[in-house]
Amino acid sequence: MENKKNYSVAIDGPSGAGKSTLARSAARELGILYVDTGAIYRTAALFVRSRGADPDSEAEAAAILPDLKISIGYGADGLQRMYLDGEDVSDAIRLPEVSMLASRVSSLPAVRAFLLEMQRSLAKEQSVIMDGRDIGTVVLPGADVKIFLTASAEERARRRFLELEKRGTPKDYDELLREIEERDYNDSHRAAAPLRQPEDGVTLDTTGLDFRQSLERLLEIIRGRMAL
Ligand code: C5P
Repeated sequence: MENKKNYSVAIDGPSGAGKSTLARSAARELGILYVDTGAIYRTAALFVRSRGADPDSEAEAAAILPDLKISIGYGADGLQRMYLDGEDVSDAIRLPEVSMLASRVSSLPAVRAFLLEMQRSLAKEQSVIMDGRDIGTVVLPGADVKIFLTASAEERARRRFLELEKRGTPKDYDELLREIEERDYNDSHRAAAPLRQPEDGVTLDTTGLDFRQSLERLLEIIRGRMAL
């Protein structure tokens, strides 16, 4: 194990596999920064919508991208906040319609290229756990630990179903499953940086594992690789 001060952990995987919750908890446990790159794409999607641009048009996106002013902040609670033109959009990006919009906007190579440097620079000065779809393959190909976090589509839909029910905004299970399958398809079939398992990564399938068990497995993998 080389003795390096900063290290990076890349976590990729499909929607609803629990990446954000697990990565955030693991980062807290390890005392390093957590970067949610999905939130960055969601913010870009809000921007495209606010400009009335076609979310599937590379040309329209390329024309407005120079005006995109995204910044990331961290609240007193350590949680990532997203700002668009200085306005805090951390709640707005979680609206369900923004999920699908982000999936479309993120297929555009111009958008991906524009956001790449921003993501890389976050990992330059500090140790990070970064989650997304292409972190281990494109953003941080030299990451010290690469994890592909997944669970069956049915299990992911079930978790989402329970979460929404608990929140008092229930949704039909079959519809949730359909949405998950559609986003999986989009994210893994696009030409630009499709979701795929890094060849040099470890797969963690959390189907049948609860949160605690999944977090333990994740920390075990990271600590094992980094000899922490
Ligand atoms: O992870 P989250 O569901 O918040 O991401 C929203 C969308 O952003 C995803 O469906 C995916 O299409 C896109 N995304 C991406 N690359 C990343 C992170 C997210 O294409 N690194």
